[in-house]
Amino acid sequence: MTSHTNDVSTQLLHPEHPTTKNCMHSHAFPIFQTSTYSFESTEHGANICGGKADGHVYSRISNPTVEVFENMVKEVEHAAASAAFGSGMGAIHTATFAHVKSGDHVICSDTIYGCAVSLFTHWAPHFGIEVSMIDTSNVENIKSNWKQNTKMVYFETPANPTNRVSPIAETATLCHERGARLVVDGTFTTPIFMRPLELGADIVVHSVTKYINGHGDVVGGVASTKTKEDMDIIKEFRKDAGSLMSPHDAFLCIRGMKTLAMRMKMHNENGMAVAQYLEKHEKIEKVNHPGLESFEGHEIAIKQQTGFGSTFSFEMKSFEAAKTLMEKVKICTLAVSLGCIDTLIEHPASMTHAGVPETLMKQQGISKTMVRISVGIEKVEDIIHDLEQALEQC
Ligand SMILES: *Cc1c(COP(=O)(O)O)cnc(C)c1O
Repeated sequence: MTSHTNDVSTQLLHPEHPTTKNCMHSHAFPIFQTSTYSFESTEHGANICGGKADGHVYSRISNPTVEVFENMVKEVEHAAASAAFGSGMGAIHTATFAHVKSGDHVICSDTIYGCAVSLFTHWAPHFGIEVSMIDTSNVENIKSNWKQNTKMVYFETPANPTNRVSPIAETATLCHERGARLVVDGTFTTPIFMRPLELGADIVVHSVTKYINGHGDVVGGVASTKTKEDMDIIKEFRKDAGSLMSPHDAFLCIRGMKTLAMRMKMHNENGMAVAQYLEKHEKIEKVNHPGLESFEGHEIAIKQQTGFGSTFSFEMKSFEAAKTLMEKVKICTLAVSLGCIDTLIEHPASMTHAGVPETLMKQQGISKTMVRISVGIEKVEDIIHDLEQALEQC
């Protein structure tokens, strides 16, 4: 990205890419919709395949459009390197499994995305990887669950859907003293509001399906690392796992990311305003937003984040009330997913987290009266009016 400014908004609008001359002077970086790449000679082909020359070979290994998106993420994340995937789960799977093996132990937060729960509780043991699902918001708890073979700590912060916050810097110090890696899922904040690698984490992953692409038209993921060596292993595994992002999705993510800084600012302001509105409402029992002083993880959140995004949950008095609210809204859309430009509302217990075993759901603090909202960038008064008219009917 351009070095003429330190401003992230300007940088994102001027991503670095291979010379425009190679792309017919196209101002938007093109979609290289190709599976293979021709070689100038057998020697040229052998050099690229042998890693002696730069160039692309096959689009499961690398692709120019995907690379431009990866470099944009690398720059805002302040990472050594980034790799894009066909989904957030693809990023989580490839980035974590590349760095653990049979016989290793992983400490995993008990509050993570539903499919990540399944990946760590079902599939990891299937490959001989031992996992402890615990509350990672407190480093002492991580210490007391540490084993001789612990090689990785994995958490989401803020976590989906309760927004529970885990301390990155303290956990990273512990991991590095004991020869383990810290992997952070930063989907809720994006690098605009939190840079886990700068705080000491080794790997950061995002579902770019959410805020990073932001327009609700791509399923994708990205992983970034503090060291090039850690990324080389991830990319080697990605080649064999076949989890690379498609060039068309990468094009949409480049487009989406150009407005990331501006969108996040609006999401954050609107999210905070809606949280404050709900906190004062008599029909709302509790609001789980890290920006509220009443929130348990507020202190850690303001230490490691410069903003909160706009996805949070709140408790209503009954399941009936929650159901009525979700059915009576007119501007907000009843749908899973989050980080979209428009407001989405859903019921974690029966939708996004339906696959989580009941005991774990309790441990995570997910109940039937909980509603999750991802506040969009509509005029905030319109969102609040919409919630107001629906709450009146609850
Ligand atoms: C959505 C989500 C994921 C999974 O990403 P996909 O793109 O749906 O595969 C992982 N982590 C968090 C926090 C998410 O919100």
